[in-house]
Amino acid sequence: QPVVDARSGEIVGFEALLRWNSSDHGFVSPGKFIPLAEDTRLIVPIGEWVLQQACLEAMKWPQPTRVAVNVSGEQLLDPSFAASLVGALAASGLSAQRLEIEVTESIFVRDASQAQATLEQVMALGCGVALDDFGTGYSSLGYLRRLRFSTIKIDRSFVHGAATGSRESLAIIRAVVAMADSLEMTTTAEGVETSRELEVVRALGCGKIQGYYFGRPVPAKEAMAMFRQQEARLGGSAA
Ligand code: C2E
Ligand code: CA
Ligand code: CA
Repeated sequence: QPVVDARSGEIVGFEALLRWNSSDHGFVSPGKFIPLAEDTRLIVPIGEWVLQQACLEAMKWPQPTRVAVNVSGEQLLDPSFAASLVGALAASGLSAQRLEIEVTESIFVRDASQAQATLEQVMALGCGVALDDFGTGYSSLGYLRRLRFSTIKIDRSFVHGAATGSRESLAIIRAVVAMADSLEMTTTAEGVETSRELEVVRALGCGKIQGYYFGRPVPAKEAMAMFRQQEARLGGSAA
């Protein structure tokens, strides 16, 4: 799914969203199979494959667009995580700066120090780390003090709330943007579906935008086509 710059509307990257078309069950929602993969620890090999594929795809995109990959707590607790990340970068040739790992606060609940140590390794390699679904979980400010996240992703419930006149949602987005700005982190507003929502999160100063308004999750081939369309629109040379 494309992620765009809030001001220019240009694609700054894509988030890799896993899909499973099962021969037995047809399309299975990630909301169903990801928790199962986590419970069975199959998320470790699956997640490694996702990292490899995402890096290979991103190598085809114009520089310096980035790819964001969701990573579960189970993966961060696996001792081979950093090595598999290095492997995915090396095999694809993608520079670490173009890869952003997305984690949710839940990773800090089980083994906070191990998760933090792994994420520090990830950052030392030059990759970004985004804090996903911010505002929906514990939203402990302690996490923000402990790790230099590159991006805070504001959950779509706040985006929707702010656009429908919820003063609480507006205040929360405003506070998160101010905090991110002073911590030198960027913000992504998630789940922007309407022009009204776009207008509101732009006015609130969110840096990046993701949602059906700019594009639904699409197969990797179509991501390439979206870059070509953008090139044509901007009148630049082909990537
Ligand atoms: P997420 O990381 O919060 O991803 C955003 C979800 O919101 C995606 O659901 C996306 O399709 C959906 N979305 C995007 N824009 C809009 C919008 O404008 N409106 C609405 N209503 N929804 C929007 P999806 O693809 O079903 O993924 C669900 C979750 O599964 C993800 O939530 C993520 O937590 C997990 N997931 C997906 N791929 C992976 C993966 O490769 N590894 C891991 N560990 N988790 C993954
Ligand atoms: Ca995500
Ligand atoms: Ca999210």
